[in-house]
Amino acid sequence: MLGLSGTKNLKRPQIARRDAAPTATRRNSLFTTGLTHLPPFSYDKTVMNNPSLTSLSHHLFVHRGAVNVGVLHRGEEALLIELGDGAVLDTLEPAGIRWVDAVLFTHHHRDSVGSAGRVLGSGAWLGAPEAERALFEEADRYWQDPRNRWHMYHFRPHSVLTEPVPVHRTFVDGDTLRWAPARITVLSTPGHTDGSVTYLVDVDGQRIAFCGDLIYDEGQILELYSLQKGFGGLTDYHGFMSAWREVIASLRRIQSASATVLVPTHGNIIRDPKGAIDLLEQRLHEVYENYLSTSALWYYFPDLMRQQSPTAQPVAVASTLPTPDFLRHEGTSWFILSENGHLLVMDCGSKEVIQQVEKWLASGEVKAVDVLWITHYHDDHVDAIPEFRARFGCPVIAERSVAEVVSNPFAWRLPCLSPSVVTVDRVVQHGEQWQWQEFTLTAYHFPGQSLYHSGLLVEGHGLRLFFCGDSFTPTGLDDYCAFNRNLLGEGVGYDFCIQLLEQIQPDMVFNCHVDEPFHPFPTHLRAWRETLAKRGALLKQLLPWQNPNKGVDPAPW
Ligand SMILES: [Zn+2]
Ligand SMILES: [Zn+2]
Repeated sequence: MLGLSGTKNLKRPQIARRDAAPTATRRNSLFTTGLTHLPPFSYDKTVMNNPSLTSLSHHLFVHRGAVNVGVLHRGEEALLIELGDGAVLDTLEPAGIRWVDAVLFTHHHRDSVGSAGRVLGSGAWLGAPEAERALFEEADRYWQDPRNRWHMYHFRPHSVLTEPVPVHRTFVDGDTLRWAPARITVLSTPGHTDGSVTYLVDVDGQRIAFCGDLIYDEGQILELYSLQKGFGGLTDYHGFMSAWREVIASLRRIQSASATVLVPTHGNIIRDPKGAIDLLEQRLHEVYENYLSTSALWYYFPDLMRQQSPTAQPVAVASTLPTPDFLRHEGTSWFILSENGHLLVMDCGSKEVIQQVEKWLASGEVKAVDVLWITHYHDDHVDAIPEFRARFGCPVIAERSVAEVVSNPFAWRLPCLSPSVVTVDRVVQHGEQWQWQEFTLTAYHFPGQSLYHSGLLVEGHGLRLFFCGDSFTPTGLDDYCAFNRNLLGEGVGYDFCIQLLEQIQPDMVFNCHVDEPFHPFPTHLRAWRETLAKRGALLKQLLPWQNPNKGVDPAPW
């Protein structure tokens, strides 16, 4: 294949570092007809007459579309910052601009980069953060890599490009680029993504910061799910919103660099950076404290929670109770042993569960394995179910929302997804009730830790036991990752779950990862619900969306 290696020459030249000027590149007009006979034009007049264009200085305007695109121009050529859907290109010709020399991207998300093909054909060069080079040039590999599909605990936004996009220049913190009449300085500003940069454009006596999606408007941010960031180590998959301080630190860097104007990728042009950032910090802090105060993680990792905030504390802590003697707990599984020695198993995340059941069968403590119930789709609850079903031949029962995922995991992209395809022998509906041995069972859709999650009420031996999957611990709600789709609002998500517990009034609640049952009182449930309602109100201020779920749920609405 040596003869084809010439195509390599089109790839990135040497990475530009401090003060590197762009070399001349192949340039073709973006427009193919009539342009050699253009009438005289005026940038200022064109920009003023087009409501989608905002002039920031004589040589810089912003195209206000779904994405804000900076248009830095000299004579007949332009350098763009971001690209969006490419609609900006249609505004260039009336402004007398014939060529796009370059497009700089603050980060790899497809809402800005996806239409890059429209400028590549005309010879423009593309610039991007060095830290995100692979997410541009090897986007196809990202999607093909099973590590980005299965058992993915560290789940961050997946607005990764669907097709690779070549990058000709990459930038690191401190790089500068002279593009007369401007000088552009690159600042590393992580937060929205780990590798995001800001382009500080010095032009016409101003310093204008193209800051990606760190901020949307004064005191507002586009969405929170991009701020998902693990705490590292064992807790690397938790971390809802935990990049919020990084966002503020990055914005403060931009403020310290004396930017006079912020141009976010989405949102409004901000002319009072300090005021806008101050308000954003205050609101992010308020929402985060509210979030921490209902977190299930206080039960598992109290020190970690205290590290997140010295002032936050749980609003309610339910007391724990002794485990009834007909129940067993192993790994993430709970087991109910009936009077005649039959077993109901909840979840099977590992071989150890199978081995435990085999031991009980061998010792005679268990006479038969009757049924396996699935609480939710997470891999640590379902990985070994196919093996369990083959070994014990018992039927698998799941609530509809859970069955949809586990029976066809290849159709989903979710956190902690298992490639194990589970045959669900019986799909039950919300509220469906049946008898198993001396117990009455009722299935519920229970959209707590995940939207694809169920609850099971077990009544027997004079007790009402509620198996909540991973959704609650004694300290509250396990909404650790937006990609689990924890919808907010009256009657949805955790609010729905808490209302259900208020109606059912179980004597004990069981979590798959907690060895002991616990009993949330009505006062605990009310405190969690009220805190959630307050979170919804806070999010309406923090997010630009009328429905705050658009800012916390990454699924397309
Ligand atoms: Zn983005
Ligand atoms: Zn789980």
